[in-house]
Amino acid sequence: MNIHQIFENNKKWVHEKLNRDPSYFENLSKGQDPDILYIGCSDSRVTAEELMGVQPGDVFVHRNIANMVPNTDLNVLSVIDFAVLHLKVNHIVVCGHYYCGGVKAAMQSRDLGILNSWLRNIRDVYRLHKDELNHITDEEQRYKRFVELNVQEQCINVIKTADVQRAYLERKIKVHGWVFDIHSGKLIDLQIDFRKVMENVMEIYRFR
Ligand SMILES: [Zn+2]
Repeated sequence: MNIHQIFENNKKWVHEKLNRDPSYFENLSKGQDPDILYIGCSDSRVTAEELMGVQPGDVFVHRNIANMVPNTDLNVLSVIDFAVLHLKVNHIVVCGHYYCGGVKAAMQSRDLGILNSWLRNIRDVYRLHKDELNHITDEEQRYKRFVELNVQEQCINVIKTADVQRAYLERKIKVHGWVFDIHSGKLIDLQIDFRKVMENVMEIYRFR
């Protein structure tokens, strides 16, 4: 990838958009009204908009290593706050992906410096589901299941926030757990029993 090529690509893209709709950028500059907040992994192979087939303006996006929602991360908590309170999204998606480097790193016991504290949040997921994960003898299957369970736990972390609980009571906001399978290109809905999780979480983490 030649870095200068990006500006050529951009010119072409602007041209194509204007060809189809001369007021495309004028409309885009008026503001955003997305209905979905997408929290995904920073992995360069896992694009947000492209794999969902959506356009600029459709989805509010946050990405970090291994699509995490740590309870103390001001970045992701601010994104959730803004999306729920100000953009009034009705759906929050946590999307993980198989063959995630962050999840793989958390499965190993190497010292990775500053990454250690981030990976500790993923290792906490392993600890919570140790019995199930240790029973999977095939390492690739265990790795894939760990990715799925991490998505599930991050959905729970989303639900734990006061903003989401209020939005659930007010307008029935929904949280979805998805996994992108890099090997097939398919997006998989983990069909997390959202209402059941919501009730369990609210029993302990309720804010009112
Ligand atoms: Zn990843």
